[in-house]
Order: sequence, then structure tokens, then C-alpha cells
Amino acid sequence: MNFKYPSDSDLRRLLRFEPDSGSIWLGERRMVLMHTASLAALRQDLLSSIGPEHTRRILTRMGYASGLGDAEYAKKVRPGQSFQDSFLVGPQLHMLEGAARVTPIKLSLDVPNGKFYGEFRWDHSWEAYAHQQKYGQVDDPVCWTLLGYASGYTSAFMGRLILFKETVCAACGSDHCSIVGRPIEEWPDGEAHRVYFNDESLLEKLDALHLQVEALKSTLEPTGQGQLIGNSPEFRKAYGLLQKVAQTQVAVLLTGETGVGKERFARTLHEHSARADGPFVAVNCAALPAELIEAELFGVEKGAFTGAHASRSGRFERADGGTLLLDEVGELPLAAQAKLLRVLQEGEIERVGGETIRKINVRLVAATNVDLEQAAREGRFRRDLLYRLNVYPIHIPALRNRPGDIVALSEAMLARFCALHNKRLQGFGERALQMLQVHDWPGNVRELENLVERGVILASQGGWIEAEHLFQNQPDTGHTGVDARGQLAQLPSAQEDDLSARILDSGSPIEAIEARVLDLAVQRAGGNLSEAARLLGLSRPQLAYRQKNKQPVQRTSASGSLSPSEPE
Ligand SMILES: [Zn+2]
Repeated sequence: MNFKYPSDSDLRRLLRFEPDSGSIWLGERRMVLMHTASLAALRQDLLSSIGPEHTRRILTRMGYASGLGDAEYAKKVRPGQSFQDSFLVGPQLHMLEGAARVTPIKLSLDVPNGKFYGEFRWDHSWEAYAHQQKYGQVDDPVCWTLLGYASGYTSAFMGRLILFKETVCAACGSDHCSIVGRPIEEWPDGEAHRVYFNDESLLEKLDALHLQVEALKSTLEPTGQGQLIGNSPEFRKAYGLLQKVAQTQVAVLLTGETGVGKERFARTLHEHSARADGPFVAVNCAALPAELIEAELFGVEKGAFTGAHASRSGRFERADGGTLLLDEVGELPLAAQAKLLRVLQEGEIERVGGETIRKINVRLVAATNVDLEQAAREGRFRRDLLYRLNVYPIHIPALRNRPGDIVALSEAMLARFCALHNKRLQGFGERALQMLQVHDWPGNVRELENLVERGVILASQGGWIEAEHLFQNQPDTGHTGVDARGQLAQLPSAQEDDLSARILDSGSPIEAIEARVLDLAVQRAGGNLSEAARLLGLSRPQLAYRQKNKQPVQRTSASGSLSPSEPE
């Protein structure tokens, strides 16, 4: 097979070294540089403790998992390119990761029809090398991790289980290894190899996810509200207080920042109470115009004021026998506060413009994100009402104070939004998860919810939610990676790289490009040379010097690319 790899600059770009955060990334996946000697030691321990069969299985599965992970990049990095070039992302990444030098010998793939046949040669397999270091020359092939990788990558790429076998191995005395891959059904003894991949093959995993989504869909509550989720000490404290008070009739005051989920807490309180079969009614006091609040809360009789065309009940009446949540209670005007106090003291209400007294049986839950004590000191909130409401305060912690809960919350939201938006996703990418955990969350659980929903919508069907789907507009300022010579280097951002590539592709000599840039700067500066120098980051004498020595004026072609002009 006469054959040439596409440039791997797109793959090297994925590799980022972040010594400041103590991490290395391949795209969205966290990597680690390990000593092959430590892997060799692990291998030796496994072989002597659990024997070759189990060791082979564990190492194959380890490689298989890496192959599955890298297959993500085949779709992402070379969109719109031939199946073959996309497929070669795998062998090229495997080389970049230091597994071996991979040379395709025969490769034929028909993705739509699921047909695959591949033969590859491996030189310098780290695994053969490590095995030989410990055991010398052996009789059977030993590149289990590498083989697992090839199977995992190709299976994910093809969407069906492709089994690779090693026909020649350097650990057996050859100077290289050879592998052959085809669909598992086409191997006479294929089924016997399934044990290396079973209970977690990609397709089974996708099927399982699909079933999970269907199950979730059928249990979706109409409001989209889920259970309270969390295991951090701060959360458990608040939840414990809630459980203790739920069965009583005591008024509860929920405090906490905006977006921490006060309504969800109130709803859970209601569901755990003896009133669970009664109504749960929530009012946001800040969302109602001041002049309508009393009518909203207590009801109104026809003709009580202009616009009251018909009598109607208020939220208190509607919550009779159940629970009423007054959210942002600190926003209630003083007049409404006075009326609310009377209702709480007497357990009866009177509609606006009405004369009938109605007995009501409502459990009141108030919620606030302002300091009511402070509001009382400033005369904005009645102190006697505060005492009535503040019998049993529960503080709901801000999301940033319960970082241990972020992953569980995100996963639950992911499942819910996948069901809602008909998406089948594999989960969050590692980098996305890391960024979720370090974000400051000024908007708390509500902000997290918005981000996850956006992520679910933006991620591609069957794929992962990556950092870019959650946090948009991340500046690309370049990063430390591996350059074409294999050295660690500061790589330019994708845009800069793009520009350089366009310049290079234009075929213009560098002097011509410089001359064109100088002219453009002078033109943009309206002929002001000092300004032009500033635009270019040069001193005025430097600009003058370059102008004097520049090439003849260049013209820009109609397509906007740089092209040398005819001599004048
Ligand atoms: Zn080998």
C-alpha cells in the first residue's frame, strides 16, 4: 500500500501542557505522562498475582478505553475529510502518545456498510519493549494494551466491534509487530475474544444509555423538578433541617443566594409533609406589581377597584390544605406585610373589597435572598412579621460552597435535559467537568442548570458535552504543546495559525507580505506615519527604515489573497 499520513498538526494542537494547573490535556481529555518502567512494574505484578489471562484482559480493556476516547477526535478534528484520513487520526494519535510507530500495510474501510479490513505494522512498541525487559524473549505476542487500543478505536469509528490480533510480535524475537483487524464475526474464533471487551462494548453502552433515557422520560415530572441532590456537609445540614420540620405545621424561612433552589426546597418540604396531597402554591413577591399584590395573595371581590371585573380567589385560598411559598418575601410592600401578619395571626383572610371572613389552613414557607434582619433595622420590613416568619430558618448553601455536589447535580441535570431534548449523550468530557468544578457559580444551581441545558443542546448526538459547549467565548490565546520538531513550544492560537497558513498558501515571498502590511498600516492611519508605526508595534524610525527598503507595491487580488503585482 502506497501511503502517506496527513499532517498531524491538527492532532498536536490538541495536546496542551498546563504545568500551572498540574495537568496535561489531549483536547478535552486529561492525560498523564507515565514512566514505561512503572507500567512494566504494574504488568509484572499483575502477571505474578492474577496470571496471564486476567492480566491480558485488564490491559486489553485499558487500551480499549483509550481507543474509544481517541475515536472522538476522528469525528471532531477532520470533519468533511475522507473516511480514510479521518480514520488515520487513530494511528497518528497512537504514535503521538508514544505507543509505537504505526504503518498501515492494508486498509480498506466502508463505514456506511460496516466493512473493515486492516493490516498494520508496529515498530518500537513500548509494550513489547517493556515486556522483554522483564521476561526476555517470549513465545506469544504481548502488546495487549496497544491491541486493545486498535480494537477500541476502530470499533468506535466503525460503530461495530472490530477485533485486532497480533500476528507477529517484537517480544517474540521479530524486529517489529504486525496486527490484523476485521469485524469480530469474521474471525473463526472471534467469540472467544469477546471476553476482552464484553459488558462494556460501545454499542451495548449506547443501548444502555438509550434505555436509560426512555426510562427517565417516562418518569419525568411535568414541572421538570427533580429530587434534591447533594452529599456535601453544607447540603446535608440544610436537608436534615428540612426533614425534621417537614411533618410539623411550623412556618419555615428559607434563606440563601438567588438561584440556590429555594423553590425546589420548598416543594420537597411540602412533599415530605402531611399536606403532600394538598396543593403547593408558589408566589414570587418581587414579580408582582405592588398594587396587585394584595389582590393576588388574598383574592378580590368584583368591583373592588377598577379592573376587578370578577371575583376571584387569591393564592392563600388556592393553597388551602396545602403549602404556600412566598418567594422573595423581603420585596413585599409594607401595607401587604401588615395584612399578611394579620392572616398569620388569625388564620383567616378577607378578599380585597370583600366582607366575608374565610378560614384558611395553609402552611407558610417564606424565602428570601436579602437579610431580613437588616431590612427590619432599616424599617423596610416589619419586625413582628419577621418574628412570625423566622420561627425555623433553613439556610441553603451557595453552589460554590458545596463543590463536592457539582458533579452529581450536573449528571442529574444532564439526564433530565437529554430526555427533554431527545438527546443521547455519553456524558461530560473531563475538561468540561473540571471547568464546572472550578467555576465560581454566581448564579448558583440555576446557572448550572442553564449551562447544562445549553450543553445538551449544543453537543452532537451520541457525543460528549465538552467545555466549549458549556462555557462559550473562551479566548484561544495559544498554549504550550508539541511543535513539528517534537519540542515543547508555545503554539499560536488557531486563528493565528490560520492566518499564517493563509499567508503561506498565498505563495508570496515574505518581503512582499511585509510591504503590503506596511502599506495597509499607513493607509489605515490616514498617512500619519507615527500612527502607522504604532499600529505595527514599531518605532517611527523603524517604520521609515522598513519603508525605504521595502519591495515594490503589492496588489491584493479580488479574492483578498495576497498576490505579487506585475512590475510597473
Ligand atoms: Zn507486539
